[in-house]
Amino acid sequence: EGVYKVAVIGSGNWGSVAAKIIASNTIKQNIFHDEVRMWVYEETFPSGEKLSETINGNHENCKYLPGINLGSNVIADPDLENTVRDADMLVFVTPHSYAKGICKRLAGKIKPKAKAISLIKGMEVKKEGSCMISKLITDVLGINCCVLMGANIANEIAEEKLSEATIGYTEDKEVANRWAQLFATPYFLVSIVEDSIGVELCGTLKNVVAIAAGLVDGLEMGNNTKAAIIRIGLKEMRAFSKLLFPSVKDNTFFESCGVGDLIASCYGGRNRRVAEAFARSGGKKSFNELEEGVLQGQKLQGVLTAQEVFEVLNDKGWEGQFPFFVTVHKICTMQLSPSSILKCGSVHSSIQ
Ligand code: NAD
Ligand code: 13P
Repeated sequence: EGVYKVAVIGSGNWGSVAAKIIASNTIKQNIFHDEVRMWVYEETFPSGEKLSETINGNHENCKYLPGINLGSNVIADPDLENTVRDADMLVFVTPHSYAKGICKRLAGKIKPKAKAISLIKGMEVKKEGSCMISKLITDVLGINCCVLMGANIANEIAEEKLSEATIGYTEDKEVANRWAQLFATPYFLVSIVEDSIGVELCGTLKNVVAIAAGLVDGLEMGNNTKAAIIRIGLKEMRAFSKLLFPSVKDNTFFESCGVGDLIASCYGGRNRRVAEAFARSGGKKSFNELEEGVLQGQKLQGVLTAQEVFEVLNDKGWEGQFPFFVTVHKICTMQLSPSSILKCGSVHSSIQ
């Protein structure tokens, strides 16, 4: 058996909370090595201090998760190779746009028998076809990769408020159980489903719906409109997932990763917040500009995901079946006005 060493790759808002949860478990359970090494994309503050040094000095990520003690067994490391060198369990939690570059840097540098889990919500679109991030990790590194998604607004979990999450796996249930053991706490309730791709698609696509929810908030359309938007979004999430990957299970949409995350994100997430600001600007300020101002270094996933979904739809000739996804993309890229989101519902009220 031996003792499993854990590395967390990423140290943003959710990455820091994931490290905190994991570190609270590794010190309690003998099968895990106490220390949790967390890779930090290094930043230097105007004072000259480095982010990784302040994390190690104060056990707190003052930029991405201020005010929360991560635990003294979380060690911040700006050296990516060093972070993963001895690790048996790799937790990937970066914005999805950086995943490929990071995986390429890790190729040949990890233990061959290491296992991975992705907390990254997103996909990669390539000429040869689209690819979820867990598949990218498996393809580039040649290792098994589970996923963990759910209604997980990081700041709330940092305060140890109760939430649920879903681990998705394919084939290796034993490995999924080990991941559940690493993550589960009395306030973080983890369930396991054998539908890795469905879990990951839920986590990814809900970011597009959360953008639409923010738009209707900014347009001050009220609760019924927002519910309609969420319903239509969920329908396209399921249809898109099943068209692209027929093995995806309906039940997955009822797990925390599905309807749970959709509700949490459409009411409390960052994609929602920035989209609301976008609609309030009358669609005049770009998402990029608003992201920087509103999120202060944290990153949006929904705008890029909407574009990636649009590219898939375009490539497959499916645009006509997904008016909601297409409209969100066209609003984000300023080809349509924010209020156009209100016009893509009629199609869905008449089809199955
Ligand atoms: P974040 O958005 O808070 O922070 C951005 C991170 O990207 C920072 O750690 C920053 O240092 C890093 N970064 C910036 N430039 C970089 C570069 N060139 N290369 C590598 N890293 C760079 O991050 P987060 O909230 O931890 O999000 C990571 C993933 O977790 C995303 O896929 C997100 O959808 C998912 N997630 C987030 C939450 C949440 O509430 N924050 C909850 C669930 C899932
Ligand atoms: P945002 O990135 O929109 O904040 O969503 C967070 C999330 O994924 C909650 O589960």
